[in-house]
Amino acid sequence: MAIARKRLGKHPCPECGTEAWVKESESGSLSFTCPDCDYGVLLRKGTPAADKMRARFAAPPEAKPEPAPAKPEPKPAAKPAFSIGGL
Ligand SMILES: [Zn+2]
Repeated sequence: MAIARKRLGKHPCPECGTEAWVKESESGSLSFTCPDCDYGVLLRKGTPAADKMRARFAAPPEAKPEPAPAKPEPKPAAKPAFSIGGL
């Protein structure tokens, strides 16, 4: 029976920026290993760093506000401000 580590999500490597999987072990600790530069870190369960990392993946990334659809520009109403005829 293989021990499957749960993949929480991808995280950019702090050293080189390559995205790699953050995995959760059976014990609940999180591990991150960069395939490109061999940066690796183990965040033990219950530590602030682990909680922070976990929270990062627990919450869906903040949805970016969609750019407002181009509103049809209201045509400037012809101003009946003054009329030459009335002078
Ligand atoms: Zn790296």
